[in-house]
Amino acid sequence: MITELAEKLFIDGAWKAGEGARIAVENPATGEVLAHIAAATPAEVDLAVAAARKAFKSWSRVAPIERSKALHRLGDTISGEANVLARIMTLEQGKPLNEAGGEILKLAEACHFYAEEAVRIHGEIVPNSTTDIDSLVMREPIGVVGAITPWNYPAELIGWKLCGALAAGCTIVIKPAELTPFTALAIASMVTRANIPAGVVNVVTGSGSKVGQALVEHPGVDKIAFTGSSAVGLHIQQSCPTVKRLSLELGGNCPLIVTSSADLDAAVKGAVRRSFRNMGQICIAINRIYVARLIADVFVARLGEAADKLVIGNGIENPDADVGAMASVEPLNKTKDHLADALAKGAKLIAGGSAPEGDVFARGYFFRPTVVAGCTHEMKVMTEETFGPLVGVMAFDGLDEAVELANDTPFGLAAYVYAKDMDEIRYLSSRLDYGNVAVNNVDAGIMNAPYGGRKQSGVGYEHGREGMLEYLNFKHVRIRYDEPKGR
Ligand code: NAP
Repeated sequence: MITELAEKLFIDGAWKAGEGARIAVENPATGEVLAHIAAATPAEVDLAVAAARKAFKSWSRVAPIERSKALHRLGDTISGEANVLARIMTLEQGKPLNEAGGEILKLAEACHFYAEEAVRIHGEIVPNSTTDIDSLVMREPIGVVGAITPWNYPAELIGWKLCGALAAGCTIVIKPAELTPFTALAIASMVTRANIPAGVVNVVTGSGSKVGQALVEHPGVDKIAFTGSSAVGLHIQQSCPTVKRLSLELGGNCPLIVTSSADLDAAVKGAVRRSFRNMGQICIAINRIYVARLIADVFVARLGEAADKLVIGNGIENPDADVGAMASVEPLNKTKDHLADALAKGAKLIAGGSAPEGDVFARGYFFRPTVVAGCTHEMKVMTEETFGPLVGVMAFDGLDEAVELANDTPFGLAAYVYAKDMDEIRYLSSRLDYGNVAVNNVDAGIMNAPYGGRKQSGVGYEHGREGMLEYLNFKHVRIRYDEPKGR
């Protein structure tokens, strides 16, 4: 399927051979070039935005029940093709095939969730100071959405925007990451098969600095829905030349606190999963762990053993592997840099620390899940987002210290707690300055609850009803009535 999608853009319901420069897309597990994409030219971005503007006129007037049916069809089409879509994702992103399949099914879940929400866009009637007036608060779709997405979750992070936008009655132009464009183009082919009208969904490929920026600056785009790094999010906020609605889902540097009352088995299991899944390339990955001094040595030893047991593989050849290749050389180099920095400043290497050995790993971007202990806040691993398979551990002496350390960051995306004592749970969850706090589990985001960051981790929400509100404007209609004549 990748060959069919190569060098194409999806504009106004049709596949267009892109006219811009070619960009190679690599398989990060082997270093082989999979195919090329076409960098959309400014004229092609204009075409996509114009198609979305034209489609908005009719799509915003389509009855909610019909938008709902369209999203259900899209969800069914996507889950029916889950194997094909997952293979594309693994080839370009590196995560194991089964994990990619799970992500595709979550994309389908987002379609069905927002299909249900499309028919629940309710308004309000607000009391006035006199009884001859009704104040109606209505919700109307914002317009054309420019969606700019990263490479770590190439399907889900498009899905949350696409489904929320379409349910609300908006149309969308998607600019996926350069590293993972084929998943986005494959989703566009599902849009066609689900009979979603031309122009409602468009996909333009190319670099963020050119194609993404063109959407940010485009006067025909009413809202930018962005997921990516805090630096690019801030740049987008500062470079909008006109007032636009923005939602920015940005970086993290997420802490886990393990108290002395914690179930140690569960804490180790959770820490391993959320530190290393997707090779740590998750905005809500656990980057740093604070563990009660009383249990620190045993926790660190068991975390190291568990990290060493994770199976690393080429995600196509070993679909059940725990972790696959990293998506590109940049996150790999950043991981090595954070590791070297920690070791130079006195951290102790507990597990990993190098690339796995063997021919299968020779040309891809692989690294062993790595644990360092005895960390301090002088180290990058404890204060910056690594976005790789590296976690730092530090002991704490009291809950206040743990909270202070966990909140000592410009980020506020997700924090994790393992504790059994209810007083500890209440104390910690109320004081952690994060948009998401997961206690005794590591799944900080679920489809039907709002998900968003604080501070430099972003503004706005995805998931839940709140995720759809990001695509709606309020309109206050205030009507004064006279008594009917001849009453
Ligand atoms: P990134 O470098 O910020 O890129 C994200 C997207 O923005 C890509 O499509 C990129 O295009 C594009 N872009 C780059 N410069 C741009 C510009 N000037 N104008 C418009 N678009 C531009 O982030 P990444 O490296 O792909 O992803 C990793 C980051 O995403 C991490 O910080 C992670 O925490 C964050 N993230 C956050 C969440 C969340 O929900 N909060 C979820 C996942 C990831 P190119 O691909 O062409 O560069």
